[in-house]
Amino acid sequence: MAKNVVVIGTQWGDEGKGKVVDWLTDHAQGVVRFQGGHNAGHTLVINGKKTALQLVPSGIMRPGVACYIGNGVVVDPTHLLGEIERLEANGVEVRSRLFISESCPLILPFHVEVDKAREAQRENTGIGKIGTTGKGIGPAYEDKVARRALRAQDLKHPERFAKKLHELLDLHNFILTGYLGSKALEFQPIFDHAMKVAEQLKPMLADVGVLIDAANRKGGNLLFEGAQGTLLDIDHGTYPYVTSSNCVAGNAAAGSGVGPDKLHYILGITKAYATRVGSGPFPTELPIDTEGTIGHHLSTIGQERGTVTGRARRCGWLDAAALKRSILINGVSGLCITKLDVLDGLSEIKVGVGYMLDGKRIDILPLDADEIFRCEPAYESFPGWTESTVGIQKWDQLPLTARQYLERVQSFIGVPVDMVSTGPDRDHTILLRHPFQ
Ligand code: IMP
Repeated sequence: MAKNVVVIGTQWGDEGKGKVVDWLTDHAQGVVRFQGGHNAGHTLVINGKKTALQLVPSGIMRPGVACYIGNGVVVDPTHLLGEIERLEANGVEVRSRLFISESCPLILPFHVEVDKAREAQRENTGIGKIGTTGKGIGPAYEDKVARRALRAQDLKHPERFAKKLHELLDLHNFILTGYLGSKALEFQPIFDHAMKVAEQLKPMLADVGVLIDAANRKGGNLLFEGAQGTLLDIDHGTYPYVTSSNCVAGNAAAGSGVGPDKLHYILGITKAYATRVGSGPFPTELPIDTEGTIGHHLSTIGQERGTVTGRARRCGWLDAAALKRSILINGVSGLCITKLDVLDGLSEIKVGVGYMLDGKRIDILPLDADEIFRCEPAYESFPGWTESTVGIQKWDQLPLTARQYLERVQSFIGVPVDMVSTGPDRDHTILLRHPFQ
């Protein structure tokens, strides 16, 4: 019988989901994206050349694997076509095995302008930026929820597209000029360009829910590839410092059109420490700028820079009390701990196991961002290890103190560690229980 596995981030994104999805694709006939847009990203090396994938599911790198962009994803058609063409230029066959849901809301140029102008306004008025990726993600989801979005299916109907675009552009130009102090955009260039891109994308539009069901019925395993992370989830994250979609495992169903009973195993990915890009509370954060500090070690050895924006990521100790909330919300079956090797050489390793908030001890991340800002983490401390763990493939080859650290995380959150990643390569992986078996 077919098995479906959902891979989600349990922190603030960038947990190393890309590598794990790539590794698991060996056992899958298809890979599905179900939320987010081209705010996500990971870099792949193809024939020695670096390619950044943001929208196309990473299964595209395996010949014969089908790739689905579910209805929960917001699609910038120009960006998507660019990504397809870059892959093709590297010799990757895309168009015969990429399926884009007709229901995907589109990101159009005015969404990007509104996103950027709004961030500038927040900064100028002292509210403070969210630190978005500036890709138009939030404004596109707003249009979806307001039931006025242009969707991928509209690309097939030029007249309908033009009518809806007029209405949408009027509204956004009003916001841009009347509220955000920015410039209006013109209809014709947006329309002409969208119609040109439409010619290329139309053959890939599909009823993704039905295709996924058919793939499962034929016995094909599917992998659902989450983007961002649980603490950036619009409902469950550190609101308002979040993205605009549900990043939790449950949305793999709603965001692609499969029933929740078809999500058989949820793999939660967490780094052995924590990072965050953009603004918002981060209780276990450490300063990263001074050489010789732990924060600097995590930032440099972990190469913590954003794939999409190039921004330096904020770094800190693993926050197991935040992880506890993620485990709960996602129904995590097993955990994959990534970048363990980044902790090599540290004499002491800490894990956040709770917080002091207004004089009281709490053991799970609060829901209110203002409260999280005031949380002082409570740590447990472990001895580190001097040996290199890079590339280790067997649990019992890990230094004893590394095993003790992982075992403590496992017992604290009450979910088994099923995989450990010890380096960037596919083979740098310790497998304890296979999600597909
Ligand atoms: P947006 O998704 O561009 O609206 O950005 C909202 C917040 O989510 C910002 O703090 C971004 O830095 C963060 N964010 C969005 N996508 C990612 C991602 O793929 N990894 C990490 N952070 C992300």
